[in-house]
Amino acid sequence: MSSTPPIPPELTSGIETRDFGTYAIAASPVGGSMLYLKPDEFALLPLMDGQHSPQDLEARLGRPVEDLIVDLREEGYLVDSPDRKKHRELILTLNGFEFDGFDRVISWVNRKFGDRIFSARGLVTAVVVGLVGLVAFLVQLCLGQGLTVPVTQPILAFFVLRIMSFSQAGLHESSHALVIDRNGRHVGRFGIGFYWGALSFYVDASQAMFFDRRTRMKESGAGLFTDFVFAGAVSLVAVLGGGATWAIALRELAVITYLGIILNAIPLLELDGYWILADALNRPSLHHDSLVALQAALRGKFDDVRLALYAAASTIFGAAALVAGVLAFWNLFGKLFHALWAGGAGYKVLAVFLVLPYTMIVVELLLEPLVLLVRKLETKRHLRKSRKNAAAT
Ligand SMILES: [Zn+2]
Repeated sequence: MSSTPPIPPELTSGIETRDFGTYAIAASPVGGSMLYLKPDEFALLPLMDGQHSPQDLEARLGRPVEDLIVDLREEGYLVDSPDRKKHRELILTLNGFEFDGFDRVISWVNRKFGDRIFSARGLVTAVVVGLVGLVAFLVQLCLGQGLTVPVTQPILAFFVLRIMSFSQAGLHESSHALVIDRNGRHVGRFGIGFYWGALSFYVDASQAMFFDRRTRMKESGAGLFTDFVFAGAVSLVAVLGGGATWAIALRELAVITYLGIILNAIPLLELDGYWILADALNRPSLHHDSLVALQAALRGKFDDVRLALYAAASTIFGAAALVAGVLAFWNLFGKLFHALWAGGAGYKVLAVFLVLPYTMIVVELLLEPLVLLVRKLETKRHLRKSRKNAAAT
């Protein structure tokens, strides 16, 4: 027996939807999460007019409809949804804190500086800083200048690196948000939290799904571009410091950022580079489709060999890239980890926090395709969660 609520669901007005063929998205008019709908779920929406009972809908869908109705109600899609406009500015979630009002900050930045940032001159300046900075970084590398902060003060090293990485992640996310605002859409909440135990920063960028492909590619690329300029600027400043500890810390930050760019750009992982590829190929559900194809291939059904190969390659290549990434990060942080681990209990906690983001990213990125393959390819319904940046750098 199903425990579906008895009230016939009725959609509120002003819901925005977009049909991508293999899936559809819906945005609530009151700022709740955007939802990811399977084609048959999407087809059910017109029947949510207050005239069809959940049982009717369930019969039409051929499977339980309760989860969908609960999500629609909680996120403000139904006339009997709780009033989301009155909700608090600060919400405590399972992962940490989420704030409202980040869109206002971004809109202000756009109004104040947007014309300069998005001008030809702004773009050229950024490219020059990125390129010259990269050269400066490579020169410092060839000169054998220190890349890892001395571990004589492990606590200080830990906090300096964490805070700097965190500001880099903040800039990265804000650049996505700025492109969204520039193109006339809202960014949603922004959150700070413990994502898989690692302190992370994310912005709800799901409204970008309503852009055309070109704009979406710009939005996805903005984060990578910002990281590139950021790493360049940091490398340029580090030149001034030579062997000083602060300059070494900046170089270490540059290394982390460059490694992050490489990881983020690889389209085989479901990060920014992936979204650019998916849009370039005009296949917004590339990840999901390829896993479906691989799942079929494993059962001996070769419907789309290229897609199945892509999924296999992304899993294998993703694993290899992550192992390489982890080794590189271990080179940077290994000594600091040992120095912290050698201390008391508090030090050990910091040591764990130092490596946790990387281990959790590895675990998640490796496990996700496996979990998806083993389960029935359930897709995350809340879009903002699937657009969350793995900004645990
Ligand atoms: Zn990004």
